[in-house]
Amino acid sequence: MSREQIAVARARKAFQTGRSKPLEHRIRQLKNLQRLFVERQTEISDAIKKDLNKSEVGTQLYETLGLEGEITLAIKKLKEWAAPRPVEKNLLTISDTVYIRPEPLGVVLIIGAWNYPWAVTIQPLIGAIAAGNAAVVKPSEVCAHTAKVMEELLPLYIDKELYPVVTGGVPETQELLRQRFDHIFYTGNSTVGKLIMEAAAKHLTPVTLELGGKSPCYIDKNCDISVACRRVAWGKYTNCGQTCIAPDYILCEPSIQERVIAEVKKSIKDFYTENPKSCPDYGRIINQRHFRRIMAMTEDSTIAVGGDNDESECYIAPTVLRDVKPEAKVMQEEIFGPLLPILPIGGLDEAINFINEREKPLALYVFTPSDKVIKRMIDETSSGGVLANDCLVHYSVSSLPFGGVGNSGMGCYHGKFSFNQLSHLRSCLIKKLKMEGVNSMRYPPHTPKKLGWARFFILKNPDLGWLGRMALLTIFAVVAAVVIQNCLL
Ligand code: NAD
Repeated sequence: MSREQIAVARARKAFQTGRSKPLEHRIRQLKNLQRLFVERQTEISDAIKKDLNKSEVGTQLYETLGLEGEITLAIKKLKEWAAPRPVEKNLLTISDTVYIRPEPLGVVLIIGAWNYPWAVTIQPLIGAIAAGNAAVVKPSEVCAHTAKVMEELLPLYIDKELYPVVTGGVPETQELLRQRFDHIFYTGNSTVGKLIMEAAAKHLTPVTLELGGKSPCYIDKNCDISVACRRVAWGKYTNCGQTCIAPDYILCEPSIQERVIAEVKKSIKDFYTENPKSCPDYGRIINQRHFRRIMAMTEDSTIAVGGDNDESECYIAPTVLRDVKPEAKVMQEEIFGPLLPILPIGGLDEAINFINEREKPLALYVFTPSDKVIKRMIDETSSGGVLANDCLVHYSVSSLPFGGVGNSGMGCYHGKFSFNQLSHLRSCLIKKLKMEGVNSMRYPPHTPKKLGWARFFILKNPDLGWLGRMALLTIFAVVAAVVIQNCLL
């Protein structure tokens, strides 16, 4: 048996013991995971520094703080999330107990990406543990130092049979994908996303695909351009542009292009000094393959700001491209790097058309003082998430589902959505063996009279508030049972 097969078989066996299910176990594991982030911050930060040149503060701000928040929330809310959820009943089921019971799915495979290696790998794990599953964790091999630290640390804190870490690259991931899972949670690019779905289809395994794409940013000429550009520059150049929800490109009217360039330039200087290369808060491109991919995108566009680069250090300065054409190389795929193309456009109508002619993005940004413009942008487009007058921050709101639509992904998570995503919401209906008269209308011989009663019981749902409805429906049910049994059938 391969290493991957052994890990999956062990996780399955551990799941079958039932020990992942009690709420006390889930909470204990979550608390242990929380302790990891308190006690091992230095190892975590050192590894990320080597992988992406993130500062220690940056690592806490963009990676572990959010995880700590998610763990705290899950611990606090788990009892409520996991409790049976009573649902509304119709006349036919009025005297039954009807509820939804969230249940663990089984063994979940979590495949992480490298850009926020802890955030995108551990956040689904929090959901998997909270929902009572076992989970095989596959961190991205591209972030080699972090993957190693994750492999070393996780088993020291959480149940290593239920939640094993399997490291490796494409062959190891493909070997994992040949195994049978109960859910696959993948974060990464859309091309590999299709391979994941194909592999999952062989076992009819459901998937969550957290993908990327080009997230547009429309800047209205009437907005406070200085504030807008500061927020856009932060969203773009954080983690050197390697953020799935980074604003990919700007759409604005030609009349404000120069102001936008000047204001983004000013923010770059404010955030990262005159020399971002030596600024501790400015990151690096993950590797030379990505460095070359990003640099090649600048070839047929005009650089307005930045452009400096150093392959030996995987450094690309925060860069702005002006007068970019839709056919330019930088517009053909997700940039995932510190290039900010500006596409002059005729106004809101054109911007909306431009967005709708392309794949549905993961995030959509609009900067404007006008509620009407915001409303039109929301009403007339589709995207995973939409933000007016800011970037990225929707990621941090646990009460919002985070995920894509169409080419930017399927399924969602964060907070209770992670719990639901990795649970089976089982329908439960518990009937008593009494009141058989009510059921007569569904038993053969079928007659028009019975159909009439069935129509009444199924379609009538008077809106009287909870108490009124309960009282009325109970009376209906009893009277109907008596009437049906004695007179009509
Ligand atoms: P990556 O190269 O780390 O790949 C992701 C995972 O897929 C890795 O664990 C890798 O081992 C595995 N993998 C790669 N090729 C494979 C193959 N052929 N078969 C099986 N498994 C394979 O990460 P990436 O794809 O470069 O990540 C960047 C992309 O992820 C961007 O598009 C970004 O927008 C997206 N992303 C999305 C989110 C989100 O939450 N929606 C978050 C982060 C990144």
